[in-house]
Amino acid sequence: MKATLTVLGSGTSMGVPTIGCDCEVCTSADPHDRRTRPSIMVQWDEHTVLIDTTPDFREQAIREHIRRIDAILYTHGHADHILGLDDVRPLSFPRVTGGAKIPLYASENTTRVLHNVFRYIFDADYKYGGLAQVELQPLNGPVELFGATFTPLPVLHGDAVIEAFRFGSAAYLTDFSTVPETSMEQLQGLDILFLDALRHHPHPTHSTVANSLKIVERLKPKRTFFTHISHDLPHEVTNAALPDNVRLSYDGLRLEFEL
Ligand SMILES: [Zn+2]
Ligand SMILES: [Zn+2]
Ligand SMILES: [Zn+2]
Repeated sequence: MKATLTVLGSGTSMGVPTIGCDCEVCTSADPHDRRTRPSIMVQWDEHTVLIDTTPDFREQAIREHIRRIDAILYTHGHADHILGLDDVRPLSFPRVTGGAKIPLYASENTTRVLHNVFRYIFDADYKYGGLAQVELQPLNGPVELFGATFTPLPVLHGDAVIEAFRFGSAAYLTDFSTVPETSMEQLQGLDILFLDALRHHPHPTHSTVANSLKIVERLKPKRTFFTHISHDLPHEVTNAALPDNVRLSYDGLRLEFEL
């Protein structure tokens, strides 16, 4: 079925511009160089699924006129991927959801982090209402949501194993330094591939432009978009040096694909 993928945020953990930085990208007038923290939204029929809830979720939701969330899938428990969870509150109240809690699909490790960080939500004994109406669900295999399948694929983020996701003809791989062979095998025949590409200079827990281009050469997706981008990569200059079917993503980018 036809679906839309919207980039809510394309930036690295500190966002671009970075607080206190006067570099060329942080002071750029090009709106593509303004990058909120990394997350995407997938929509089909009347359904909306998020991957991660960043500290910028409120701003992203207002910008993209998000009216409803049916589920949230988490890649891992780092602050730049989870800290916006509290801001789903207005979309989690019964008048919006019809009474169902928003399911949060998370691995065991991520569940532990979410539970610790948001203890006031999950262990609440609070009779005045107003808390996010969400519930943790295990992520230990493909998740079926309204006729679509989201398959978690393990990737290495430094030493940590975190989740990437394949859904229909698209896949989203943020925060990885290595993609294991077993996951590479499940990334064949893609129309749209999102890959972490932090910067040119090597990083212990993130992919670089050169490393992600090697993955593109092997997998040969129709189109590739880089994400989790730092202030080292100016949008226009970087794009000019990339192959035609590879582009830096940017906040607000919308793509149609087959789910
Ligand atoms: Zn991150
Ligand atoms: Zn900067
Ligand atoms: Zn991370």
